[in-house]
Amino acid sequence: MIPLEQAQDFVLGSCGPLAPVELPIAQCLSAVAAEDVHAGEPVPPFDNSAMDGFALRHEDTTDAPVDLALVGTVAAGSSRQEPIGPKEAVRIMTGAPIPPGADAVVMVENSESVLAQDGTEMVRILLPAAAADHIRRAGSDLARGEMVMRQGTVLTPAHLGVMASVGKASLKVFPSPRVGVLSTGDELVRPGVPLSYGQIRDSNRVALLASVKASGFEPVDLGSAPDDPIAIESALAGATELCDAVITSGGVSVGDFDHTKVVLDRLGGGSVRWMQVAIKPAKPFAFGLISNVPVFALPGNPVSSLVSFECFARPALRQMAGYSDLWRQRALAIADEDLPRKSDGKLHFARVTAEMGEDGTYHIRSAGGQSSHQLGSMAGSNALALVPDGNGIRSGERVKVWLLRCGS
Ligand code: AMP
Ligand code: MG
Repeated sequence: MIPLEQAQDFVLGSCGPLAPVELPIAQCLSAVAAEDVHAGEPVPPFDNSAMDGFALRHEDTTDAPVDLALVGTVAAGSSRQEPIGPKEAVRIMTGAPIPPGADAVVMVENSESVLAQDGTEMVRILLPAAAADHIRRAGSDLARGEMVMRQGTVLTPAHLGVMASVGKASLKVFPSPRVGVLSTGDELVRPGVPLSYGQIRDSNRVALLASVKASGFEPVDLGSAPDDPIAIESALAGATELCDAVITSGGVSVGDFDHTKVVLDRLGGGSVRWMQVAIKPAKPFAFGLISNVPVFALPGNPVSSLVSFECFARPALRQMAGYSDLWRQRALAIADEDLPRKSDGKLHFARVTAEMGEDGTYHIRSAGGQSSHQLGSMAGSNALALVPDGNGIRSGERVKVWLLRCGS
């Protein structure tokens, strides 16, 4: 058996980032930027008002209350560029350009409408204004040429907004890998079709396709192949033309019909490595490159396949998608009950429920049966506890967890 970290290092060493592509910014959410971005335009592009109110010269308001002549209105989007003179004001809306000559904005709340002797409209400014009051200067958010974000940034909605604000329409990003998922096994029947004796449902395919999607990648359903080397070979050969990575489940143990192993060895040349990883579940695992496409051969037991996905496929796919942080959120949690196990030289992944306590620490409990075919407890869990070799964790002790679905 080899330690988990050694197997992970082997996999990660063969899964470099995909070649960047240029995408419209609206398609870049959650992708990783493959280039630095600088502001091509200042933001805001011109001095503008932060308030609905009156643009004026602040020195005219020193002796407030004062009445100023109202010489116009500027709304957001207005291209009015006439200057204002002494003792004049312009009605201005939030986001409208500050007229030349004005150096402050007084909010509507600090003004009154008045009429001059000749009936023309004036504005009474009730309080003195200071220079620059309520003016948003051009470039005060981002100056032209300023660094907006670095290569490697994981793009949030706010990053897309910032790019739109500086006029950047498209961006070089690492593409999301297209990931094929293939089940293998003569016993597999898809949901919706009656089961004959000896058959089981193909649950791995839907769960692995969903795991790919939930991790932000593009799932490709490759169906299910019988335990026949020719069928598996043709499915894998086709898949590597279509996909950036392939995940198979089943056929990697030491049974007489574990053909995935044989076919992978043939197609992958010397690149494929068969591993017995010192973890439970998910001990058997194979990985290699077929035509330069990473192939993850996961064990068939339903929980094993999902734990193997978490240990190997997910971090490797994240690396292909350009992420530098490859891992699930990790925490040190307090066990609220015993998590017993027997010593066997392996790290055990226990399916647990983790809940944030009032003490600000995650507390965990077992999510149920821990055998590798008991998928129900996987569905009932939101975290994996890493129970080290030994006799298990006692109630009240701390244990490392990977948080799979905590928070919203
Ligand atoms: P294998 O690794 O092919 O020996 O499979 C180990 C166990 O997992 C066997 O009990 C299989 O029937 C089961 N298994 C394999 N593939 C799937 C699948 N796609 N869905 C559900 N169970 C599976
Ligand atoms: Mg099988």
